[in-house]
Amino acid sequence: MQGCIFTAFWALAHECGHQAFSDYQWLDDTIGFILHTFLLTPYFSLKYSHRRHHSNTGSLERDEVFVPKKKSALKWWAKHFNNPLGRFLEISIQLILGWPLYLLSTSLVHLTIG
Ligand SMILES: [Zn+2]
Repeated sequence: MQGCIFTAFWALAHECGHQAFSDYQWLDDTIGFILHTFLLTPYFSLKYSHRRHHSNTGSLERDEVFVPKKKSALKWWAKHFNNPLGRFLEISIQLILGWPLYLLSTSLVHLTIG
């Protein structure tokens, strides 16, 4: 429940980072900063690094976020999850643990690189 609600806050803050929330950059930055601070994630560093992600979306070489693994790089157990039950388990784990791990990892990365 918390993940769904916080993801909604994050989506709003994400739009602020793209300056798509309002016609005013100061308003977008203010709302984005408040929402990201509430979520314990840095707003401005994410805003700039996220811009890089969008300019390279779908690129196997340059995308920083959604880079699919090549078949040769998959772990031995990956083939066992390539069915409806495996996908259900994977999605369940992702939904239950994904949000807290995402917040933790982005906070640590952005604290490290500033
Ligand atoms: Zn975006």
